[in-house]
Amino acid sequence: MSTSTQNEQFEIRFWGTRGTLPTPGPQFARAGGNTNCTEITCGSHTIVIDAGTGIRELGSKLISSCENQHIHLLLTHAHYDHVEGIPFFAPFFSHGDKLDVYSGPLDGSSGTEETVKNLMRRPYFPVSPDVFTADVTYNDVVPGEVFHFAENLKVSTAPLNHPGGATAYRIDFNGRSFACITDTEHTPGKPDENVLGLIENVDIFTYDCSLTDEELPDFAGYGHSTYEEGIRLAKLARAGAVRAVHHMPFRTDQELDRIEKSMQADEYDFAMARENDIVKL
Ligand SMILES: [Zn+2]
Ligand SMILES: [Zn+2]
Repeated sequence: MSTSTQNEQFEIRFWGTRGTLPTPGPQFARAGGNTNCTEITCGSHTIVIDAGTGIRELGSKLISSCENQHIHLLLTHAHYDHVEGIPFFAPFFSHGDKLDVYSGPLDGSSGTEETVKNLMRRPYFPVSPDVFTADVTYNDVVPGEVFHFAENLKVSTAPLNHPGGATAYRIDFNGRSFACITDTEHTPGKPDENVLGLIENVDIFTYDCSLTDEELPDFAGYGHSTYEEGIRLAKLARAGAVRAVHHMPFRTDQELDRIEKSMQADEYDFAMARENDIVKL
């Protein structure tokens, strides 16, 4: 925690931490049923990672709090649980707002603009991105690329091991750092060097904790990782803390509590990321 002023605040808020499919129902309510969406506030800058269903509520908040905003939307990849909220994100329909959308290379798409166009086309959707009224720019990321949104705000990227491709992001702001590592599959016994490089000494990162080590063999090839691997990587990279994301649709709150407790026996700073949780760096 720090005594940073409003202009230096570094805050992460989870608007959706469910993977694969939205999961309504009382047994899922505490972790939340919305799919992947994380808001990162760095001083006056707004960064959003992924546009799952959680982005709809975030859009309502952003629209009501400020006009003429510049929002950076970083997409890890375009599987439904990471993009299905795009057509429902209010800032896209706000005159005066500026949105920069980013994604890395994805099989089956020539780039970020085509990815969004393909999402909003018949027979899947009634209207095309032509309905957006904001000033939208599409940016193609080369994983490994580093870019600056401001002098003190750096974004680093790395490729992930996921069918069709996915990109991880790390944000460094005024000497503090956060990284988002989802979705990715690891090879047991072989820590992913790309991930290790990105999370080295990071203050906190989210990790694709879809599975347990025991469950992993049953899901080989689906592109997901485990709670235990998140903690192993965190220790190897001397990361400060790890928060589990991409909760599978079959994980009830009760089960997530049980897994969280067993992982915390390790005495590492591990916890489930739950919808509406806020982390201040
Ligand atoms: Zn996913
Ligand atoms: Zn995926």
